[in-house]
This record gives sequence, C-alpha cells and structure tokens, in this order.
Amino acid sequence: MADTDFDIIVIGAGCAGAIAAYVAAKKGKSVLVVERGEYAGAKNMTGGRIYAHSLKRVFDDYSEGEITTEDIPYERKITHERISLLDPASSMTIDFTSDQLGVEGRDSYSVLRADFDQWLAEQAEDAGAEFINGIAVEHLLKDDAGKVCGIEAGGDEITAQVVIDAEGQNSLISERELGNPRPKRDAMAVGIKEVFELPADEIESRFLCNEGEGAAMLWAGDATHGYTGGGFLYTNKESISLGLVATIEDLSQSDTTIYQMLDDFKKHPSVAPIIKGATLSEHSGHMVSEGGYNSIPELVFDGCLVTGDAANLCMNLGYMVRGMDLAVESGRLAAEAACDAIDAGDVSKAGLASYRTKMDNSFVVQDLKTYALWPETMENWHRMFTDYPKMVGEIFNSMFVVDGKPTQHLKKRIMPIVKQRGLFKLLGEVKGALKAL
Ligand SMILES: Cc1cc2nc3c(=O)[nH]c(=O)nc-3n(C[C@H](O)[C@H](O)[C@H](O)COP(=O)(O)OP(=O)(O)OC[C@H]3O[C@@H](n4cnc5c(N)ncnc54)[C@H](O)[C@@H]3O)c2cc1C
Repeated sequence: MADTDFDIIVIGAGCAGAIAAYVAAKKGKSVLVVERGEYAGAKNMTGGRIYAHSLKRVFDDYSEGEITTEDIPYERKITHERISLLDPASSMTIDFTSDQLGVEGRDSYSVLRADFDQWLAEQAEDAGAEFINGIAVEHLLKDDAGKVCGIEAGGDEITAQVVIDAEGQNSLISERELGNPRPKRDAMAVGIKEVFELPADEIESRFLCNEGEGAAMLWAGDATHGYTGGGFLYTNKESISLGLVATIEDLSQSDTTIYQMLDDFKKHPSVAPIIKGATLSEHSGHMVSEGGYNSIPELVFDGCLVTGDAANLCMNLGYMVRGMDLAVESGRLAAEAACDAIDAGDVSKAGLASYRTKMDNSFVVQDLKTYALWPETMENWHRMFTDYPKMVGEIFNSMFVVDGKPTQHLKKRIMPIVKQRGLFKLLGEVKGALKAL
C-alpha cells in the first residue's frame, strides 16, 4: 500500500469526527483531524440532548474502564419529557416522567456543544490523534484511478489511506468532491437557538426537577406560526437552550423570518414565564436534515467514508430529535471499517464496504428505515401545526372554563369541536401519522 502521511484523515471535529478519530487512534492508527473552527465545537450547534447509549458503547469498548458516564461533560440527565401544542391563545402540555428515562444505557443528557465537543476532541487527542484547528478542508486528493488519497487544506496536500468525511450538514465536500446530491429544500430545515442563563435551583423549581435532572420540551403549532417545524427547549446545568426549527421550503413561503418567529415564541404567555429574568448569553443558527432514510447518500467510496450529518443521519419525529447518537455510532463504525480495510491492505470501495454492512445492521439505518415515511407525512400534515393546536385549545376550554351558564355533557361539548374539523379526516390523519411513526 502507498506510503501516506497518515493512516486516516478525519474532516470535522463534531460528534462523528471526534469519535471516528478516537476509535481509530485507540486501534493504533495514525490519525489527523482537520477542523475549520478555531476549536472543536466552535461552530457546532444542537438543541440539544444526546441519547447516551452509543457514546457509552464507545467508551465501554475502547477506554478500558477509564471513561464512565460521570466523566462526560453532560449538563443534566433528562427525566421529564414535555410535548406542547401551541395556539396563539392557548397551550396544552403533556409532561411525562418515568424511572425508565434514567436507567443507564437508556439515559439521555442535555449538552452544550462547545464544552462537549472539546472534551470529545481531548479524548481523541489523548488516544493519539492529531488535530489541526482553524483550517477548512477545501478539496479531496484523488489518484489517477479516482481513489481518494488525502486532502487539500490551507494550501497543503496531506495524504492518507482513508479519509473519513464528518463535515456535518451543508456538506460541500461530499457534494462537490464525491458527487452526493444536495438534499431538497423540503428535506432541510433551519434551526436557531438562544441560551439563557438561570441559577440551577431556579431551573429545578421552574421545571419541577430533582437536583441535577432536567427537562426536554418540544412545541408544535404557533411556535413556528403554523409552519412545519417546532420549538424546543433543553435545561442545562445553569442555563436553558430555547429555539426553533422550520423547513427551508416553508420559510421561503412565509412573510415572517425565523428570527421574528423566535421573538414571538418567547413572548407567548406560556413561554415567557420560563425565561423570565434569565440572561441571554448565546445565539446560534444551523441547518438540520429532515429527510430521513430517503436522504441517506452514498456512504462508501474508494478511499473515503461519509458519516454523521454529512450523510444526513438525523431524525426529527416531532416528539424527539436524534442526530448526535447516530453521528457517534456512524463515526465508530466508519473508524472500525477503515482500520479493518487498512489492515487487510484494501482501501478500495470494495475493501471499505463493511462500513455500509455495519451501518445497515445498526440502529442508525434500521431506525431511519422504520421512520422512512415520517418526513413526508409531517411535511404534508399542515393541520398538525395549524388547526389541531386550536382544536385542542377549544376542547380544553370547553372542559375547564366555568361561566355559570347551564352546562352540557362533555361529549356534547367536544363532538361539535371535533366534527368541525371532519372526524373521519382527523382519524385518517392520525392513523397515517401512527403508521409512519
Ligand atoms: C437546531 C438543531 C437542534 C438539534 N437538536 C438535536 C438534539 O436535541 N439531539 C440530537 O441528537 N441531535 C440534534 N440535532 C442534530 C445534531 O446536532 C447533529 O445530528 C449532530 O451535530 C451531527 O454531528 P456531526 O459530527 O455529524 O456534525 P457536526 O456536529 O455539525 O460537526 C461537523 C464538524 O465539521 C466541521 N467542518 C465542516 N466543514 C469542514 C471542512 N470543510 N473542513 C474542516 N472542518 C469542517 C464543522 O466545523 C464541525 O465541527 C439538532 C440540530 C440542530 C441544527
């Protein structure tokens, strides 16, 4: 095999890239990570909560017991799940808590990416990976046969046996250099987020959580002015991450910018008290893939593998968002496949094909496949974001408002509200959604 500067080069130090680098370095390979941000996490954004299972597996398998859950810079263990339907005049919230949410291996945690990503990068560095920060990879180097054999960055050419593309969303390298298609506008969303500082005990009392625990909230409806998408909130140790996601297609049809939507969302009577008195400390925006299974591009090339968000491995199910646990798993599997191929002396597309097989057998592709119909179902289910939050508000008003006039049985009060929307149409839409979920 050709003599190269490194065994493996990783593009990007997000969840996928840092884990790929960590695993490959632990397997004794020479690894270079090139990150365009000034430091790992400088440009990264998430809601965000990470489901911990895939990260736990990496450290259980590779850290020889040195890294446990307590060592990871998580913010709060999420023990409350809240889903809200928001109408301009009302809000209906389900609050779920269960001991199952905290069980190790099923647990999830809020994270702040600047801290979290730097810590992941440190683990990869301690394992032996080298990092260059503040330089973007501009091109892939290819040999005469078209096989990827390195990168061009900051005017330098650096060679490797395998390049792992972990550049995240808006994946220009994957598109431009590997020929993967750009996701369609309705399969892409924009997310914006603000972080508000609040003392830990204030967070715990506002969200009814025990010490060190926290809540995740998702809103549908007026949060995005009735457009497809929604609001999100995650409680951190001493701050709250609050934001919105809306599809690019819908935003292009709206007179309102996503910034205005966020301003209006923060003023909603059910949201304003949550951040009352809190200090705004951070503002960020990022693209997010909503296309699901049908958006997964080619993952394996001669000398190159694509991971994480660069491969659109993200799912927004309306009641949960997952991308980071998929990124971690794909980073691990890419590193393992790359190391096996290097050891076998064949880093061609055929030699690296075990990555695709490992991915197909993993929860990543299997879960995305299970929910393959959901992105389109959600995109076309406009009433979920407009009429249903209003209907739910009317139903609950009919239950809880007492004005001294003679009342009727609940059924007589509720049925006209539901029938106005078309009972069978509603049942059909709910059935379709349940099938897709
Ligand atoms: C608003 C929003 C909310 C979300 N909420 C959640 C959530 O609650 N839970 C969840 O699991 N997921 C969530 N996600 C998705 C999650 O953030 C992503 O799936 C995850 O970050 C993907 O990790 P990654 O490593 O593939 O990409 P990233 O984390 O984006 O990392 C890519 C890295 O590559 C670098 N890079 C890019 N181009 C180059 C280049 N040319 N050269 C060098 N470096 C480069 C970037 O700077 C970055 O560091 C959310 C996303 C958004 C936008």
